[in-house]
Amino acid sequence: MSIKDEWARPAVLLNPAAGEPTDADSHIGGPMLWPIDEPWPWCDGTRHDDLNPTAVGVRMPFVGAVQLYQRDFPELPFPAGTDLLQVFLCTLHHNLDDCFGPDVRLVWRDSTTVIELIEEEPEPSVQEELYVPTVNVLEPIRFTEYAHPFDRPEELEDEDWPETSAGTKIGGWTPWWQTGPVTFTCPECGSEQRQMLSLGTREPSGENVEWAFGREGNLNILTCEKDVRHPFRKHVD
Ligand SMILES: [Zn+2]
Ligand SMILES: [Zn+2]
Repeated sequence: MSIKDEWARPAVLLNPAAGEPTDADSHIGGPMLWPIDEPWPWCDGTRHDDLNPTAVGVRMPFVGAVQLYQRDFPELPFPAGTDLLQVFLCTLHHNLDDCFGPDVRLVWRDSTTVIELIEEEPEPSVQEELYVPTVNVLEPIRFTEYAHPFDRPEELEDEDWPETSAGTKIGGWTPWWQTGPVTFTCPECGSEQRQMLSLGTREPSGENVEWAFGREGNLNILTCEKDVRHPFRKHVD
């Protein structure tokens, strides 16, 4: 194994493209597979930033942002008994300890237990347009990604490796831009938190989802290596 291989990780560019996905598809911004008898996720509004005074303290439903089925993305660390990852955003500015931006909820679901679907997804009365995704199907591209110079040991920083992708992707490395390098540890067990999913403002294909995080950067979601259900990290960069 070469030194370079030690700094390689598998990654999947989601490569969004305009389309009309259903709740049975992997997608960005389409309808979520949500059972009628389960409460929809809501944000309590306590961390809404006063940049938008009308949203301060106002409860708001999360918005279905991404859903990824195991059959399409076996690379994701699905906990036993689950086959669907659902990502929700509260599409308002939040002043959270770890980042400024939308709040995030992750739901790991067993899609086979969903029989009857919610009739209508609740819609927030106020949203920040820049956090609202357009509707996209996914045309994934699998590749090997090498660590960003910030994450490499000093002697490898200047090596000419391909750039860390800032597109929306599974796995790979954090595309440090405004911040970094930062190592995150799980607040519950102390294990390393690894890049699981990154939502990007600019897609390599040019077909952007039209959401924007930070200064046209990424909303990175890092999860515990040992247990993805331990508290995850949101990092806007
Ligand atoms: Zn919120
Ligand atoms: Zn942990």
